[in-house]
Amino acid sequence: MPKNLTIVNHPLVQHKLTLLRMKETSSAKFRALMRELSMLIGYQVTADLPLMPVQIETPMQSMQGQMLEGKDLVFVPILRAGLGILDGMLQLVPSAAVGHVGLYRDPSTLVAVEYYFKVPEDSAERHLIVLDPMLATGHSAVAALHRLKEIGPKSLKLVCIVASPEGVAAVHDEHPDVHIYTASVDKELNDHGYILPGLGDAGDRLFETR
Ligand code: URA
Repeated sequence: MPKNLTIVNHPLVQHKLTLLRMKETSSAKFRALMRELSMLIGYQVTADLPLMPVQIETPMQSMQGQMLEGKDLVFVPILRAGLGILDGMLQLVPSAAVGHVGLYRDPSTLVAVEYYFKVPEDSAERHLIVLDPMLATGHSAVAALHRLKEIGPKSLKLVCIVASPEGVAAVHDEHPDVHIYTASVDKELNDHGYILPGLGDAGDRLFETR
């Protein structure tokens, strides 16, 4: 297994991923499952967040507890399918800021074309977590990571739900420093850049556009 790749094999994750993949799963159920998967994967992604000691009073006595240090996380969904992961992540870390990167795949070349980019002004002082459910060719993720690196954030991670071996390799060739978190690395890509067995078009299934 490549360094900087975490496959979240927890039984709840694998159970929900199987339901997510099924073609008969409705958009409403698909959205709910993706939110639940995001929270379960997010639990791993945030495992190294720094804590600081805080003095508190319980109803019984005072004690030293621990809380997250500062508000230094930014979630960056890649539009549009990345929005499917955002809700779950924000439920875990409500104080995080949100940036957006708009990229579409040119259907003939599969190259990622940027049409929107907005991140918090102080992103250089923050940890950025890029969200994209399907790491297929890796073109969008590679392009988004290049763009975000121009800002010089404290760190960058990538969260997806399903990855292809080609996508993992593409990201790690260009960005060996970026840790990828996923629920599965599937078998392969087809000629149209879709993951097999995958789950189809995540954006269409989330937003019922097809
Ligand atoms: N994007 C998707 O939504 N699904 C794939 O399989 C590949 C890219």
